[in-house]
Amino acid sequence: MRETFTGSFTQQEPIPEEAIEAAVRVLRHGRLHRYNTAPGEVAETALLEEEFAAFTGARYCLAVASGGYALGCALRALGVGPGDAVLTNAFTLAPVPGAIASLGARSVFVEVTEGLTIDPDHLARRIAETGARVLLLSHMRGHICDMDRLMALCDGAGVRVVEDCAHTMGAEWGGVPSGRHGVIGCYSTQTYKHMNSGEGGLLVSDDADLMARAILLSGSYMLYDRHRAAPPPEVFETLRYEVPNVSGRMDNLRAAILRPQLRILPEQVARWNRLYRAMEDGLAETPGLRLIPRPEAERYVGSSFQFLLRGWPAARVREVVARCAARGVELKWFGAAEPAGFTSKYDQWRYADPAPLARTEAVLAGLLDLRLPLTFSPEDCALIARIIRAEVGAVHQAG
Ligand SMILES: *Cc1c(COP(=O)(O)O)cnc(C)c1O
Repeated sequence: MRETFTGSFTQQEPIPEEAIEAAVRVLRHGRLHRYNTAPGEVAETALLEEEFAAFTGARYCLAVASGGYALGCALRALGVGPGDAVLTNAFTLAPVPGAIASLGARSVFVEVTEGLTIDPDHLARRIAETGARVLLLSHMRGHICDMDRLMALCDGAGVRVVEDCAHTMGAEWGGVPSGRHGVIGCYSTQTYKHMNSGEGGLLVSDDADLMARAILLSGSYMLYDRHRAAPPPEVFETLRYEVPNVSGRMDNLRAAILRPQLRILPEQVARWNRLYRAMEDGLAETPGLRLIPRPEAERYVGSSFQFLLRGWPAARVREVVARCAARGVELKWFGAAEPAGFTSKYDQWRYADPAPLARTEAVLAGLLDLRLPLTFSPEDCALIARIIRAEVGAVHQAG
């Protein structure tokens, strides 16, 4: 029997009832703007910030309009300006070099390893070559590099690290939440990430000066004392005359639907990881296919799955993608010559003037990726894995 899969790789779960009720309450009172509060009322947005700070163990938290906005805001708070070099992963998504470009700064791309994390040796060389003082580190597809080694390297070289945790909300390295190793952690609450408010972003930090800057940048006007997970008002005293308002706030409607989702995030992480393990089990020991090893120190969130067809010619990878698609399994190929859907590759970001990177080319040429939305069951994942295994096997044997 030739099995096919009929589920949707882009269908997330509905918003929890409790979150819908919270949203309706905000709609009924009409105070959607975060600084529009009744006497004595604490805005949903301020409460979300307080709860997310507690969740990550950060002193401060700011909610903003999107994950991409959070990245740009973090870089601006760090003083990145036109012409500055910013180190970042060659393997990431377009909003990362986009945030760097939004400041007129220059992306300096760093090679990716076969573990899908930043190459620390290449990073060290890039730091030496460029004198860059900021790394925008993307935990792309949830793969976390050796953070102890990375932080030792960056601290030693005077490089400040902003973490892009769009795929690692709820994850950890060495028992420390992702986003808490660098000076600022940035998260996204866009529909395809780990909490869903359509669009949205969060920043966390322990640094009072940086967080005061980020709050003013996000468009707090002089209302920053309505924040709760924020530095005290005196930190804003002189900054408020210096920092521009680059408006990008979150609103109370989105915050209201995120707060109940944050409470169930640990259970959701456990569910994602059951799906991930079903994929891993189903694809283990498939000839020609390499799984991505997960380090001991990493506590990941398996909301997507990657594997490598290492050294395969493009035509055969394309054949696997087509054969799987014909059976309902949507694979994204990071080695494609043209950007498609959400997937693009560093050498297609022409505004960033990328130089070719041999190691990254070799990895991306064989890299396939699929989403694991929580509307899938472990049985669905076992079926998806059987289909991939059969089609990879068929093409591998023919070649
Ligand atoms: C989604 C994403 C972002 C940006 O988040 P938005 O909320 O969509 O702006 C940044 N980095 C990565 C790796 C992402 O996947």
